[in-house]
Amino acid sequence: MPDKTIINFCPHCCNRATQSILHEQKYIDIGWNFYDGHEHPFDGIYIVTRCETCKQILLYNSIDGDEPSLAFPEISLDDSVPEHISKIYEEAIRIKNIAPNAFAVQIRKGLEAICKDRGTKKKYLTEQIKELAEKGEIPSNLVEASDVVRLIGNIGAHANNQEVHPMQAFAINDFFKMLIEYIYVSPDRMMQFKASLGKYKKSQENLTNKDRS
Ligand SMILES: [Zn+2]
Repeated sequence: MPDKTIINFCPHCCNRATQSILHEQKYIDIGWNFYDGHEHPFDGIYIVTRCETCKQILLYNSIDGDEPSLAFPEISLDDSVPEHISKIYEEAIRIKNIAPNAFAVQIRKGLEAICKDRGTKKKYLTEQIKELAEKGEIPSNLVEASDVVRLIGNIGAHANNQEVHPMQAFAINDFFKMLIEYIYVSPDRMMQFKASLGKYKKSQENLTNKDRS
């Protein structure tokens, strides 16, 4: 075992256990200031570890000396997702591989929270998800073709006796993350994109006006 170790949660095997630090890679990356377009270099470090329980690889990233955050495997949702929904998901993902049934129940809770957040009116979850498609928040073919929606509907009806196969847990996870991407992440990125271009354009206009005066 290498000299340097840490104790952290491993999403591969769902254990909080020893991880060996295999490699630390420093790097320099560049960002830009929206107001003046100037470059801003920042220091980062990637840390590769191996979980000593399951022997799988994890990757952490630390920017400008911040606490390293887990970059792979990903367990956190994007910052654009409402906090209470992220919290439900983070609790779910920690048990996905060891308790698929409990995972599915927790994801169902997450879906209910999304539907509530988006103001759906229907009574049952499967109908609420369809409602999201009707409102244009998610593509309708995603819902129509999804056995996951039916499965999650059943879990709600028979919470105690429905057995979820680990393979189904993977599908449920993918479906949930796709919904998150459509409803929160993409619209947020689009807004940021427009705002940053707007800010830059405005700052350039101000500079030009200054030159004229
Ligand atoms: Zn592990």
